Amino acid sequence: MGGGLAGLTLAIQLKEARPETTVRVIEKRVGAAPDAAFKVGESTTESGAYYLSDVVGMKDHIHQHQLRKAGLRIFFPSGDNADITSRNEMGTRRGGHTPTFQIDRGRFENALAERARALGAEILSAAVVDGVEIGDPHVVSIVSRDPGGERSTVAARWLVDAGGRSAILRSKLGLTQEVEHTIDAAWFRLGGGIDVEDWSDDEEWLGRVPERGHRRLATNHLMDEGYWIWIIPLATGPSSVGIVADPRIHPFDTYNTFEKALEWLRAHEPQLAADVEAKRDTLQDFLSIENFSYTTERVISPERWALTGEAAGFADPLYSVGSDVIAFANTLITHVVQGDLDGEDVSGRIEGHNRQVLVTIDNLLKLYTGLYPVLGNAQVMTAKILWDNAYFWSYPALWFFNGKLTDREFREATAEDFTRGLELHWRMQRFFREWHERAPRRGGAPGFLPVDELGSFWQRHLDLQRDDFSEQELRERQRLNADYLEGLGVLMFHEALGDLPDLTVDEDARINPRGITLRSEAWEEEGLFDESGLTLAEARERVPDVAPMAFEPFRSAAEHTQ
Ligand SMILES: Cc1cc2nc3c(=O)[nH]c(=O)nc-3n(C[C@H](O)[C@H](O)[C@H](O)COP(=O)(O)OP(=O)(O)OC[C@H]3O[C@@H](n4cnc5c(N)ncnc54)[C@H](O)[C@@H]3O)c2cc1C
Repeated sequence: MGGGLAGLTLAIQLKEARPETTVRVIEKRVGAAPDAAFKVGESTTESGAYYLSDVVGMKDHIHQHQLRKAGLRIFFPSGDNADITSRNEMGTRRGGHTPTFQIDRGRFENALAERARALGAEILSAAVVDGVEIGDPHVVSIVSRDPGGERSTVAARWLVDAGGRSAILRSKLGLTQEVEHTIDAAWFRLGGGIDVEDWSDDEEWLGRVPERGHRRLATNHLMDEGYWIWIIPLATGPSSVGIVADPRIHPFDTYNTFEKALEWLRAHEPQLAADVEAKRDTLQDFLSIENFSYTTERVISPERWALTGEAAGFADPLYSVGSDVIAFANTLITHVVQGDLDGEDVSGRIEGHNRQVLVTIDNLLKLYTGLYPVLGNAQVMTAKILWDNAYFWSYPALWFFNGKLTDREFREATAEDFTRGLELHWRMQRFFREWHERAPRRGGAPGFLPVDELGSFWQRHLDLQRDDFSEQELRERQRLNADYLEGLGVLMFHEALGDLPDLTVDEDARINPRGITLRSEAWEEEGLFDESGLTLAEARERVPDVAPMAFEPFRSAAEHTQ
């Protein structure tokens, strides 16, 4: 049910995995999707991009008709945000990364539907699901949107809800789980296209990134307290611009129409406002959504139904992980359905894979809950963005690229190292919020952090495209990545201390990464000091090249201000 990104990619994956499967996709849209002003969700990260190009087989289309993305680019606040050159910038200096893409969704869904049909899936369009009976088989009632509004039914052994926010099964079965994270968004497509490099002719600033146009191809983020803005270029010419904000800091009704959004931008992001204003006659659409995060009780059921994409859950668009979640969920659903149709006992697989998708959504929610007040703090956010990427590349993305998501033996053999990484990941999320509480600041030092020059960090991104890891090497990688994250955690802990004169810890003290907190009153109870831990020198040995470049500018700026 639903022939959007999640439904169409799943149809392709199911047909590729088991061509004799009968797959029907029921989609309510009438006719082809339009270019540009269609759905939101245009930017991809490594795993989502790999899924769409390699797993689902859209590489040729993507290379010919979509854009290669130039990574994540962040501009932190500075003064009244009227001069981009004075904003602390984080992003890549050069191209040549593990591929990621900017996807024009309308154009892409048309091509996906074509591929699904070519593989033998049946796509019913102008067909609205208006009733579902869960049973054996399941029965779906459909009303056609063609003249006459004909009614029909489809029976199926497996039923997957890929209907996005219409939440067909989630509502029917009462599966929705409200979450603490509440944010809102508004976005629009502008035919004129936006290039942040047009906002300054400062040669030194432009020259930081040698190739003109490299910045434009990134997902550019303008960040400040309580909000971030995306600027995404689309292959069809326009740019997608979105405001995502915490209503406690930026009420939804201050930017939920185009006129209000423009006014809001004038107050918070004047350079973007001026550019949008100049191109307002090329405005293609304006959409908004309130309180859009949620999760579900279950995604794959022994009753032979499943949820994928936004029908299952959604955490936050920061980092653009929507298509990663689709990639993981669809891969796990395909593994279950394929096994079941082949007559295997998949009861264990259903429970394991169900848990895996739910944990993925939950881990994402942990990244964002309570984060929005911190977004304007360049120092803490720099550390957090590096951390979140290092974790993601070390585990979920590395598994996905190497086909390990469904490999139970591998997951069991490496469970200890993964748990070491995951528990630390959760602890670090609390640590970043503590750091901001103890040292709240807006902005940071001006300057540029080229993330592709942080050797050991960037290597984890580059490793994703390696296809020559042996099983043994991959297992060893899980251990090395946990060691790496421990080093990074201890390094960041010392950086935070450098920011907090009332807290002192000897550099030679052994810091237990799993005890990291800035609440000194809890240090003993949480076991911060432990012989098994790392001194600062040992942490630097594990992570030799991140601290000076990533943190030194903030330290120097603080000393300069004092
Ligand atoms: C503000 C925002 C920004 C985002 N940015 C990104 C990003 O940069 N990168 C990223 O990867 N993800 C992003 N996402 C997430 C991304 O939008 C989703 O992951 C993705 O669009 C979900 O695809 P889907 O197929 O689940 O849903 P959809 O694309 O919405 O598809 C659902 C389909 O079901 C059909 N349908 C619905 N009800 C019925 C019915 N009753 N009968 C028949 N058909 C029906 C609809 O017509 C639709 O085609 C963002 C999300 C939001 C809210």
